[in-house]
Amino acid sequence: MEHGEIPKEVGAIGSRLIEAGFEAYAVGGCVRDMLLGKVPADWDIATNARPEDIQRLFPDSFYENKFGTVTVVTTSKKGSLRHIEVTPYRAETVYSDRRHPDNIKFARTIEQDLKRRDFTINAMALQIPEIRHQKPDFKVVDLFGGQKDIEDKLIRAVGNPEERFKEDALRLLRAVRIATQLDFDIEPHTARAMAKHANLLQAVSAERIRDEFSKLVMSDMPERGIEILRELQLLPYVMKELEEGYGIGQNKHHIFTVWEHNLNALKYAAEKKWPFDVRLAALLHDVAKPRCKSGDGPDSTFYGHDVVGAKMATQMLGRLKYPKDFTEKVSKLVRYHLFYYNVDEVTESSVRRLIAKVGLEDMEDLIRVRICDRIGSGVPKAEPYKLRHFRFLVEKLSRDPVSVKMLRLKGDDVMKITGIPPGPKVGFLLNILLEEAIDDPTLNQKQKLEKRVNELGAMSDEELKKLAADAKKKTIALEEQEVGTIKKRHWVK
Ligand code: ATP
Ligand code: MG
Repeated sequence: MEHGEIPKEVGAIGSRLIEAGFEAYAVGGCVRDMLLGKVPADWDIATNARPEDIQRLFPDSFYENKFGTVTVVTTSKKGSLRHIEVTPYRAETVYSDRRHPDNIKFARTIEQDLKRRDFTINAMALQIPEIRHQKPDFKVVDLFGGQKDIEDKLIRAVGNPEERFKEDALRLLRAVRIATQLDFDIEPHTARAMAKHANLLQAVSAERIRDEFSKLVMSDMPERGIEILRELQLLPYVMKELEEGYGIGQNKHHIFTVWEHNLNALKYAAEKKWPFDVRLAALLHDVAKPRCKSGDGPDSTFYGHDVVGAKMATQMLGRLKYPKDFTEKVSKLVRYHLFYYNVDEVTESSVRRLIAKVGLEDMEDLIRVRICDRIGSGVPKAEPYKLRHFRFLVEKLSRDPVSVKMLRLKGDDVMKITGIPPGPKVGFLLNILLEEAIDDPTLNQKQKLEKRVNELGAMSDEELKKLAADAKKKTIALEEQEVGTIKKRHWVK
């Protein structure tokens, strides 16, 4: 099989090991990638030297004591070559908790080391020739037919698949993730073992599941990976709510089921190479439709699926231990994905209220989610000009006040003018000023605000509460009116 060159940094480390009387092989993912004609993301070297030997040979190295790996630091300009991991041959270790190997057992030969690896395409080694050889002879050690599986585009477990998944259940997700990234199929025996032992994923930590899932979603064809997860019955352990949409028909405005539509939306986000949060929001934007469905057939409705969906997204991503601010953003994009953008009818103050909720910096991502929604429904009418218009509107309004921070009057001013002591009432007044400025941004001038806050300061608490309550009602009414209009126009009676 043809392959690219071993980088000189890897060759140099190998040579030094060999000159010291040890063996050295490039192993695992980098060999697979080379044989695929891809540039490896990182390089791993396996050797029969022990961690203390490796450290002695490479003063510029550090030993993290994780699986005996010593990381050798090079002077390469390429990030992928600056740290090269050199790991002593290891044998299969026992994973009694199905999460972590109980102890590291070193092995004597590269063959033993390859045997403990997960899939045939990941279980090949490339002998590193001594650098002074005139014609280096690259020898691929391929004990399990990895090269043939690369040709056939197959993910196949090394050895007995059931045993291998029982040893480490994360391999269930690694199989799907790698199949998705490479556009490979999972070999039938391996696939059958996966479906049979899907429930082993229960014992895998949320963080490890999350990291595999994230890589899958960031691949070029994530919708395919999610379909494989469902087919192999792994989805209940990753995002069970997503499966509720499977086979759930929509109404006369939709040709796809909820499941198909969600995957199509994700597919488009990936085609556009949009970032992770947009991809997840595209995948989850209609996740609540099955729970919100009322009626059947062409006239069914899904009221509230935006609000319920935002809550579900928070739960799903929280369970996978995604960072809080990330989860909040995705949830927000789901919550507001139904925003109204018919330029002739939408009012500037309602767009300002949307910006106030979403944040100016996330408006573009919200627009992207909406585009995924449209394209994912399979009936893209020629309408993007409206979205472009909407984007101009957002841009035009971008300097208008949408947060207390943007008011030309600060808390200190409020206290000075009204004589109110520091406390929640100051914020309360500022919020009333903001509500009024959102409706009419010309009010955001220092003099006008000073005059108005003077009036507010003279009001009784009851009067102020009523003002705030009215403003709140207005916000909600605007949203409901917008959603109501969308519902009328787009998909429900
Ligand atoms: P990538 O780095 O592109 O995600 P990779 O195959 O290099 O893919 P790593 O997690 O870097 O994945 O692992 C390096 C190698 O270690 C793999 O190619 C495989 O041989 C082995 N390996 C990793 N995880 C496991 C596992 N859970 N069980 C068995 N072998 C594994
Ligand atoms: Mg790797």
